[in-house]
Amino acid sequence: MAPKRIVIVGGGAGGLALASKLGRKLGRAGKAEVCLVDKSPVHIWKPKLHEVAVGVIDQSIEGLLYRDHGLKNGYRFLRGEITGCDPHNKQITLSKVVNDDGDALLDERHVDYDCLVLAIGSVSNSFHTPGAEEHCIFLDNLESANLFHQKLLDNLLLLDETSEKLSIGIVGAGATGVELAAELYHVLESVKDFGYLNIDKSHLEIHLIEAAQKILPALPDKVSAGAQSVLDHIGVRLHIGVQVKEVTKEGVVTQDGGIIPAGLKVWAAGVKGPDLLQHFTELPINKRNQIEVDACMRVKGQEYIYALGDCSAMVMDNGKTVPPRAQAAAQMADTLYKNLLNRLESKAELPFRYRDYGSLVSLSRFSAVGNLMGNLRSRSLFIEGYLARVMYMSLYQRHLASLYGWFSALVYRFAQRLLKWQRPKLKLH
Ligand SMILES: Cc1cc2nc3c(=O)[nH]c(=O)nc-3n(C[C@H](O)[C@H](O)[C@H](O)COP(=O)(O)OP(=O)(O)OC[C@H]3O[C@@H](n4cnc5c(N)ncnc54)[C@H](O)[C@@H]3O)c2cc1C
Repeated sequence: MAPKRIVIVGGGAGGLALASKLGRKLGRAGKAEVCLVDKSPVHIWKPKLHEVAVGVIDQSIEGLLYRDHGLKNGYRFLRGEITGCDPHNKQITLSKVVNDDGDALLDERHVDYDCLVLAIGSVSNSFHTPGAEEHCIFLDNLESANLFHQKLLDNLLLLDETSEKLSIGIVGAGATGVELAAELYHVLESVKDFGYLNIDKSHLEIHLIEAAQKILPALPDKVSAGAQSVLDHIGVRLHIGVQVKEVTKEGVVTQDGGIIPAGLKVWAAGVKGPDLLQHFTELPINKRNQIEVDACMRVKGQEYIYALGDCSAMVMDNGKTVPPRAQAAAQMADTLYKNLLNRLESKAELPFRYRDYGSLVSLSRFSAVGNLMGNLRSRSLFIEGYLARVMYMSLYQRHLASLYGWFSALVYRFAQRLLKWQRPKLKLH
């Protein structure tokens, strides 16, 4: 049966791209009703969250308002957090929406669908480490990025008035931890220009703690080594091959009983699906809270439900699962878009093939490093510096193009550059 009402839950790297394309193709033409559900009213591309956290980008300028974007792109936006899924009645439940005072704005609601796409992303995995949830900030969403930003501002005030040092412990030296560490040094270097006259980077001590034997453990050795030499150079203290036993108010306790003192602690290790998926008992959920899908992204055992991006677990031909990355979520959105159009026309759906185009890690103004995959299997080209930076920015450009179309995305980026030129380079409020 052709889906008349397509409901996409989660407006992130994958879900928003899918809603935009389906809205423009089907929603505008009245061929299907496309609804996007998200718990937040604003979208920021997740790989940019650490930039929000340090104030390099301002969500009020770069954030996309779903409601407005939906109106212009042919989909309807519904604000809410999914809490239940009933495949028999083809219905999802959204929790009530409350304001900052805790007063209910919207009651719990049920939303009917003909076809459902779950794209609710992932959260960091603390692996039940004692004290982690209580004392660490998890850079998983806009609220946590804003919380980190507020704490950073409080500390800048302290540093400027006293001769104290700011010690930050970051657990996990994957892309998030590495990019955050570099960005923080850049910010501390720059705040003098914004009136914090007594602060320089000697006031900052960053401890980056990684259990694996190298930073960026998922990336090729050359990329890890390139990033490590930049971090060494700017002064980040690396603790490699160090397991975290506990997190306390004072700092990070390591397996050998040592303590790494840190006033501010960030957990940036491990990835799992959102915990609420454990309650979706009708769906096949694996040990990492991810939804098991077949090669066409259909949830196993379900005719009308798909899942994509970080919250899904798709096993590839090589036995590995598709990695939780923005490029994978975007590619899945592209394939599912074609498949849903095929489904409308009663054509066969295509299996998803993940293409690894390589990985790029931004080291703020200091550099960027990464590898680009060639067409030949296992051939990868190491890049760094300006070229890597340009390639890194092109990833974001591609995301914008899926939301606005290529021409509008270019105009948007140009307008953002102009605004940045005229406005302060850092958001320090
Ligand atoms: C700091 C950082 C840097 C990164 N850098 C890179 C990088 O350089 N390259 C790369 O490929 N990947 C990077 N990643 C990973 C990348 O961001 C994710 O893999 C990608 O965003 C996953 O896309 P997604 O659509 O599955 O989920 P997301 O983009 O996370 O979107 C999920 C959406 O679902 C919404 N949502 C969540 N729960 C609910 C609910 N219960 N109800 C309703 N809505 C809900 C959220 O508000 C969000 O809008 C980075 C991640 C972080 C945190």
